[in-house]
Order: sequence, then structure tokens, then C-alpha cells
Amino acid sequence: MLKRNRSLLDIDRDHLIHPVTSFHGHEARGATFLESGKGMWVKDRDGNELLDAFAGLWCVNVGYGQESIVEAAAEQMRRLPYATGYFHFGSEPAVKLAERLVQLAPSSLTRVFFTLGGSDAVDSAVRYITHYWNAVGKPTKKHYIALERGYHGSSSTGAGLTALANFHRLFDLPRPWQHHIPSPYPYRSDLGDDAAAIIARSVAQFQAKVDELGGPDNVAAFFCEPIQGSGGVIVPPKGWLKAMRDACRDLDILFLADEVITGFGRTGPLFACEQEEVEPDLMTVAKGLTAGYAPMGAVLMSEEIYQGIAEAAKGADVIGHGFTYSGHPVSAAVGLEVIRLYTEGGILANGQARAEDFAAELESLADHPLVGDVRGRGLLGAIELVADKQQKSRFDPSLKLPDRLFKQGYANGVIFRAFGDNIIGLAPALCCNAAEMALIFQRIRKTLDDLLDAPDVR
Ligand code: PMP
Repeated sequence: MLKRNRSLLDIDRDHLIHPVTSFHGHEARGATFLESGKGMWVKDRDGNELLDAFAGLWCVNVGYGQESIVEAAAEQMRRLPYATGYFHFGSEPAVKLAERLVQLAPSSLTRVFFTLGGSDAVDSAVRYITHYWNAVGKPTKKHYIALERGYHGSSSTGAGLTALANFHRLFDLPRPWQHHIPSPYPYRSDLGDDAAAIIARSVAQFQAKVDELGGPDNVAAFFCEPIQGSGGVIVPPKGWLKAMRDACRDLDILFLADEVITGFGRTGPLFACEQEEVEPDLMTVAKGLTAGYAPMGAVLMSEEIYQGIAEAAKGADVIGHGFTYSGHPVSAAVGLEVIRLYTEGGILANGQARAEDFAAELESLADHPLVGDVRGRGLLGAIELVADKQQKSRFDPSLKLPDRLFKQGYANGVIFRAFGDNIIGLAPALCCNAAEMALIFQRIRKTLDDLLDAPDVR
């Protein structure tokens, strides 16, 4: 028999299921393989060099090719590649990383549980919250409230707190205890840019939802992203996060800030909660924690929640929650080095310096004929395209603009996210220099101009 060499493309098509991808859509299109990366740049298998304006999946915040991270991982792998956290075992990197997180996070958060990513951090938070309320004698607190257009991962629990149609359709979600209130979306709000009115309305909608569920005795927690990422980079007015936090405190409802995207310098400071001096009861992190160099997430919780669970477990053998890879020493060693790069390696400061260019570049696109709105904070941003600027009307989905935008951007040498509502999402790494930032936007502008030339678009 003759040997037959199947291409990577064919094997991928035949066997690999891609995350958040339509199966047949992927078979028709085929995979794009990225092979290497350095700083802001990635190279594909065909040798094309591209500027990654999305930091992988908003995670490679320190940029590609950071040798000190590679060394930290290799060194830990050589010494001890794995240590369980079960049976009272521990490893130095996990402990040090927990300590570092507590030092850097809002001061309300004193305890850290490590996960493998954001979805299981959200899932773990739900498990601990349920356990907590049962433990402290409030077992009727079972309902969860989150935001429309929110994203809280893809676990069987988190995907129901997520409020994006594709994550619910045919998945029997959301569950009866998962509820959503409207997103504070200034561009699409009838209140225009009246921040105070948008905030007041959100608080009222939250309180109304709590009432509808029979009052605070039935509500466990409110989950939100400080800036909604996967829902289209929706930036609530300043003061919104604090108002929601206070509303939760008033009603004895736990407040969870999901900082999986916004954490680790993405919006300027290490955590977006800092921008409004918000002290959450719980916080979920992932992505920037290890900057994508190894999988890891965490849920941070307050001393009160920790003690509530601890007290009720007195006499019990175990509290039945944990993963084989909780606190994985290699991921933890990576996390420690990544955090060192943010804080002592100048990367956080560089991101903050670059945020001004980013905001100015975004603003410069506002008068482009296709652009309805530009928004962002730090190095997290969006460009929302509309068919009619006055009406803010959306393009016909049959034009398949997100797909075309993405492909055109790629052809022009820039990778960004193209969301379903014709929103371009941007999250360049914090190591970006001024020339790279300018080039990213030059290429995005060209991509928009190219699209404008298409007869079916204008
Ligand atoms: N929460 C938020 C806010 C996220 O953006 C994401 C991922 N995009 C998650 C949770 C889930 O994280 P992961 O994909 O690592 O499971």
C-alpha cells in the first residue's frame, strides 16, 4: 500500500472539534494554523506575519515569546511537574501565587481557589456560593442574576449565566434559577449618554428582578463583568459598577466581579474594580493571570464566605470541590513570572502609557462612514459598525460582515475579533509600542475602507 500523506488541514477537518465554532462552517472553511509569535506579532504556516490586536483571545497580555516565562515553566517542570492540592499537599508556586493575588486584588478578597480557566472559576464560584448560603442557614438564596450580553464561560452552569443566544440555543439554558437584566449599553440606550440615568435604571432593574424572584431571601448573587467583553465590549458609565456593588450589599446579595478579561492590566490598573474602588465578595480571574502561557484561573473570595463554609464543614472529612489541576505548579510558576513582568517588568506601565494612543486612534475612526460608535478603556476597545449612523441601524446579517471583516483584516495583516453584531473587538497586548499601535489602526482603517468599496455594503 502506498503511504498517503494527509494534510494537517484534512486531519483537522476530520477529527478536531473547535471551540465556539460551527462544525460544518469549519469544515467548509478549514483551519488557519499559527506557528510562532514574538511580541505583538504572529506568523502563520504560510509565512504571513500578522499583528495580533486581540492578544490571542484577550489573554496574551505580555505579548508572545517572553523567554523568562518559558524558563520559569521549564524550571518548574524539571523540578516537580505536578503536585496535587488534595490530601493537604501543596507546592511553593501555588502558595506564592495565592499570596501575590491577595496582595494585589481588592482588599476584601483574602482566599484563592485555583482552577484551569475562567469557566471553571465561575463554576467554582457558583458551587461555593451555594455551599455558603446553605452553610450559614439561608438555603432559600438560590437565584442568580447576571446581565444580558454577559459572558461567564461555557460550563454547564456558567453558560446559563452567560446571556448570548448561541450559548443557550439547543443547550436547554438558562436554567430556571438563572436570570438576566438589561445590559448598561450607552450607545444603544434610549437614555443617550446620561450616565446617572443609565446607572439608576440598572439599579432599579436589579431591584425589580429581586422583587420578582420573591425578594433578597431568594437571591444568592449578582454576577457581572466590569466591562462586558464577549457581548461586544460594552463599557458601562463610570460609577455603574460601584452602584451595583452597593445595591447588592444593601440587599445581602453576593456581588461577583468577573474580571477574566478585565483583570491584569487590560483596562489600565491590575483590576477594573480598582477604577471604582469596588470591593467585591468574589472575583473570577483567568486569561491575563498566566497571559495564555499555561492554563489557569482562580476564584477569589472574602474572608466571610470562606469562614462561613469552613465553620459548617467542621467535622466533615472534605468539602467536595476541587480539580486534579487546581493550583498546578507549572501554571502557578508561569503566573508568578507573568505578574512579575506586569509589576516589575514595566508591562503594566507600558500598557497604561499606550492606552492614550489607543483611545486617540479609536476616536480617529469615529467619523468613518461605517462606524457608529467607538468605545474602550485601557487597552480594551470596540468599533461598532452600522448601516446608518443616524438610525444606528445594524447591517443585514445575510451580508455576513463579521466573517468578511475578519478575513479582510487578516489579508491586511491584522487580527481582531469580529462579533456577530458587526462589532470589532480589540485587546492588544500591553507590551505594544507606539509604532505597532499606529500600524494596527492603519490596517484596521484600510480594512474598513476595503469593506466600504464592496458594492453590497454601500
Ligand atoms: N468569564 C469571562 C468574563 C470571560 O471573558 C471568559 C472567557 N472569554 C470566561 C469567563 C471563561 O473563561 P475560559 O474560556 O477560560 O473558560
